[in-house]
Amino acid sequence: MQKERIKIKTIIFDLDDTLIKTSKLYNRARDEFSSLMQELGFDSEESLIKLDEVDISYIKEYGFVKERYPLSLGKTYEYFCKINSEKINPVLKKKIEDIGWQVFRQIPELVDGVYQILDTLSKKYFLILATLGDPQVQEEKVRLSGLKKYFSEIYVLKHKNVEEYQNILKKHNLDKKDAWIVGNSVRSDLNPGLKLGVNCILIPYLSWKFEEEEPLSKNYLRLDSLEEVLNYL
Ligand SMILES: [Mg+2]
Repeated sequence: MQKERIKIKTIIFDLDDTLIKTSKLYNRARDEFSSLMQELGFDSEESLIKLDEVDISYIKEYGFVKERYPLSLGKTYEYFCKINSEKINPVLKKKIEDIGWQVFRQIPELVDGVYQILDTLSKKYFLILATLGDPQVQEEKVRLSGLKKYFSEIYVLKHKNVEEYQNILKKHNLDKKDAWIVGNSVRSDLNPGLKLGVNCILIPYLSWKFEEEEPLSKNYLRLDSLEEVLNYL
């Protein structure tokens, strides 16, 4: 006879810009890139718009591999050289790609109080981390940030969509009413959760064009900081 599984209330956390301030590193790279482009005589704002366009097209083509970001920066520089009939300077192109590599050489800052918050929650809930990105990069961030110990399971996903969250619920035999998704992104955290009927907490933080979407409903809790989660869960 199969034993009845005990259902435990579960929180599925996002990593980037929910527990660690990843976008700050990307924004620093963007600032550096746009200043350099301006120095080269290209429009800094247009450079950033093009960068997002190129980067999103590469995400669609290659997925979240880390080589993609330096490549997107280099390709954006090439694009502006071409449309302005200027020669591509390989040294400059390398320097621009390196702005992208720098992002992966730094450890993002932690969100305020994250250890204490996860420590408190891990005593009451089964904590799962579901993060989107390059497995090597994400695993390294989890390890170096000291967050690994709070989670019973860590998933580095290729997509953050209904199917992926559904797989997690199924794998842990979780009832959707006993599960919460906590994250900063409407596209990757909130909307798949709302579609599934899981309880959702959105904590908006820095984000970028790829993550932009309208919430599918108002059926969620919106908080200003991670600390506030403790008032509700
Ligand atoms: Mg995020």
